[in-house]
Formats: sequence, structure tokens, C-alpha cells
Amino acid sequence: MKFEDIGHSGTPLHAWKSSARLASLPAVSCDELVPSHARAVVLAPHPDDEILGSGGILQLLARLKRNLMLISVTNGSASHPESTLWTSERLGIIRPQESAEALRRLGLYMNGLQWIHGGFPDNHVADRLDDLKSFLRTYLRPTDVVFTPWRGDGHVDHQAVADAALSVGMEIGAAVYEVPIWAWNWASPEDPRLPWERAHKVHLDRWTQARKRHAIQAFASQLTPDPSSGQTPPLNPATLERLQQAFEVVFL
Ligand SMILES: [Zn+2]
Repeated sequence: MKFEDIGHSGTPLHAWKSSARLASLPAVSCDELVPSHARAVVLAPHPDDEILGSGGILQLLARLKRNLMLISVTNGSASHPESTLWTSERLGIIRPQESAEALRRLGLYMNGLQWIHGGFPDNHVADRLDDLKSFLRTYLRPTDVVFTPWRGDGHVDHQAVADAALSVGMEIGAAVYEVPIWAWNWASPEDPRLPWERAHKVHLDRWTQARKRHAIQAFASQLTPDPSSGQTPPLNPATLERLQQAFEVVFL
């Protein structure tokens, strides 16, 4: 799927809210997901994926005092291909800064979180899949619990990062869980393409939801209209409301 197809169409939130399948998902706690001896490693293909997909989970894990590592695979410099305002040079600097601010807003101060930048090319992670696997081998441990975007999420980089994570996880024996992000846009609420049998909900209390919402607002480059290209922002209000529900979904 192309980004135009996954980014701007949209299943309305009320459709998700009336989904019988979504309503009946079993709950899982962060304590169960990441045992006390384990470290949680969040893989973000682009700066913002860590918050959109698991901004709640990250907060709950921090509250449980779990060791946390964030691996930002690319710097997100390809989000505005036709823009003269958001050039790739500018995005490559600003988007990681937006992530830093978002993590601060979640209450994850840098000394409690190890943050690694992969430097892989935005939109072309698949071209460097073997390099990404070697990169992950140097950072991941068998006792880690890894969170990656879902392999079927629809974005080429999300798929590549998931492929690498699942492959290395299998090799070293680390648990790898998948998180849907763009699927909330393109999938329908009873969509058979989603792996419902593996889906679990992590419930977010009001405070956790509020912090996640505040953190998402740090991604100005993704939220503001761009007059130079006339394109709507990657994160439009309808996309955001689907990503700001009272739970996050994890495919185990
Ligand atoms: Zn992404």
C-alpha cells in the first residue's frame, strides 16, 4: 500500500467503537507483557511511531520501573516529499527533536530511557534489511520484549522493521510483539486481514491517555498544514482520534 492510501482514507472512530471484535478483545497488562527481569525495546521506523502506537504502554512500563530502550530506525526525513517548507534536511533534524519533546511530555526523562538512532533511510528501510538485522543483533538481548509496528501495517518501512525484528527475535529468543498504527486508518472494524486471534488490549487510564495526547502534539511537522505543497498533514484529526483511544492494541 502507498502512503496516500493508508494515510488519508479512514474508518471513522465511531465504526471502531461499535466493532464487536474490538470490544471483545482480551486485556493484557504491561506487567504481563514485560516481566520484571526483562527490558522493553520499542522500534520506531519514524519519529512519532513510538508515541502513536505505544505512547501509553511506554508510560505504564516506566511506572513499573522497567528498563526501556527506544530504537528510532530512520529520522523521518521523507515525510513531505513535495514540500519546499519541510525539506528532507529540515525534517531530518526536526523530527528527532519532536520525538525528544514527546518523550519528555510522557515523563520519560532521558536518563530512564536508552535511545538509539539507527540512521536508516526513510522510506527505504527494506533496501537495507540485512544491515538492520545486524544492527538489531548488536542491541537486542534474548530477555528483551520488543515492540514493533505490525508487519501488515501497510507502510513499507513498518513492514521492513517488523520483518527484521521478528527474524532477529526468533534467532536470539527475544519476544517480539506487533502494534498496529496505520491499520487504524485503512482497516475496517471486522477486517479479516487483522490478526484478531493474537490481538490484546492494554487499557490506558485517563492520565496516561492525556499524556499521550499531549505528547502527540509535539509532532508539529506532522500536524500542521503545508502551504508549499498543498498536502494535508500526515496526522490529520481523524487519524489522531483513532490513535488516541482508551487502549492500545498489541498482537502477541
Ligand atoms: Zn511510521
